[in-house]
Amino acid sequence: MDGLDRAVAVLRGRVETAEKELRDLKAQLAQAEQLAQDARSKENSNGPWKWPLEAGEYERYGRQMILPGFGVQGQVQLKNARVLIVGAGGLGCPAAAYLAGAGVGTIGIVDGDTVEASNLHRQIAHTTSRLGTTKAYSLYCYLHDLNPLPEYKLYEEHLAPQNAERIVSQYDVVLDCTDNPATRYLISDICVLLGKPLVSASALRTDGQLIVLNCPPAPQGSKGGPCYRCVFPQPPPPASILSCGEGGVLGPAVGTMGVLQAGEAIKIIIRGHHVPYSTDAYPTPDALPSPTLLLFSSPLSGPPSLRAVRMRSRRADCYACSGSSVLTLESLSDGSGMDYVQFCGGLPSPESTLSAEERVSASDYAATIRSVTKDHLLLDVREPEHFGIAAIDGAVNVPFSQWKQSINVEEDGGQVRPEWLPPTLRDDAPIYVVCRVGNDSQVATRRLKEMGIDGGGKRFIGDIRGGMRAWKEEVDKSMPFT
Ligand SMILES: [Zn+2]
Repeated sequence: MDGLDRAVAVLRGRVETAEKELRDLKAQLAQAEQLAQDARSKENSNGPWKWPLEAGEYERYGRQMILPGFGVQGQVQLKNARVLIVGAGGLGCPAAAYLAGAGVGTIGIVDGDTVEASNLHRQIAHTTSRLGTTKAYSLYCYLHDLNPLPEYKLYEEHLAPQNAERIVSQYDVVLDCTDNPATRYLISDICVLLGKPLVSASALRTDGQLIVLNCPPAPQGSKGGPCYRCVFPQPPPPASILSCGEGGVLGPAVGTMGVLQAGEAIKIIIRGHHVPYSTDAYPTPDALPSPTLLLFSSPLSGPPSLRAVRMRSRRADCYACSGSSVLTLESLSDGSGMDYVQFCGGLPSPESTLSAEERVSASDYAATIRSVTKDHLLLDVREPEHFGIAAIDGAVNVPFSQWKQSINVEEDGGQVRPEWLPPTLRDDAPIYVVCRVGNDSQVATRRLKEMGIDGGGKRFIGDIRGGMRAWKEEVDKSMPFT
């Protein structure tokens, strides 16, 4: 079996290398064909080429150039523009597709992740055959196939304080297509410092948000568009943040937001707002365009809706863009300023808050506790949708999201007893808590002890280390994991 696995791995590697070579060759061919076609057009023209665009570009972009207010000038502005897309996921894929299709001259893609099967339902540029490749490269393959004319620059790394200036400084407009608060604040700060308009969007479950920030850009303390911190001075509490992996996301909802981002970026470019801020353009504060926060919702139970909320302009006390700001390029890059992860409440998933004695491995629970300690309770704190897809036999589902609000309890002889606690469960019968990957279960275990469910130490309460993911790896490989 080992020999066969090795042979499969070798063959897979050779196929990937050959496919990459073939893709690169096709990309070169497409580019050469386009150049040859343009050269032929020039040969056939009477005298020197007198048009601002190449022949093939008139054909490719004609349908948008004839839009009122767009024109050939708009197309030339797009061709000269440089747009950075941070995050090649559910937002970044559709945004990049429309920007590449529209003929933005230079497109940068920042993403340090690789393509996984769970991305494909919404991250439309990635494909099954490119599982395991970097998202930046996978998106490049899609974009180059769509339009070989733009220049694509890949950054197969995560945006960080150390590389932010080097990367962002090369672009005119930035799209925030990421999904974590720490990176959102970092992107906003670097855009303020470098004077770049920022098109920011987010999506979760069936809802999304869109806002154009720092537009027009202006030095700290001057009158310009608000930054992300002006709109959201404080990050959401870490416990309230749901990732796509925990909360779920509807592909068309996040796709809609990415498409809207591309539209806003195109408008910024063709209106010329990406040029450095000039007080001539906005002589009075009232002349500044008022930013709007666009809220999109597409509930599974009803029709979609879009709502625009008008936002205030820059905050006088903003940490990043106000006159009293101490944020500088130096303090950002050398780490002497803000610790972004810390500011957002540390890592959203504490690796370990329980002691080793309070935790059991999935395999130990399966091998001994489940079969020997029959009288116990297994509490599964995932959302009911996760629980409904697959759960451990005998587990009781009490979603952790409900705990965060309030837990239903009833008075029982002066003792607080949750209604889900089976009346037949002995006072010293242990309780094991399981969640998706072993973070919520630790917090839930703490809560149960704070509520006194352990009877002052009479009853063992602990969690299953690594959650359902560990259960799949260690106990039941057939179990679906989402
Ligand atoms: Zn601000």
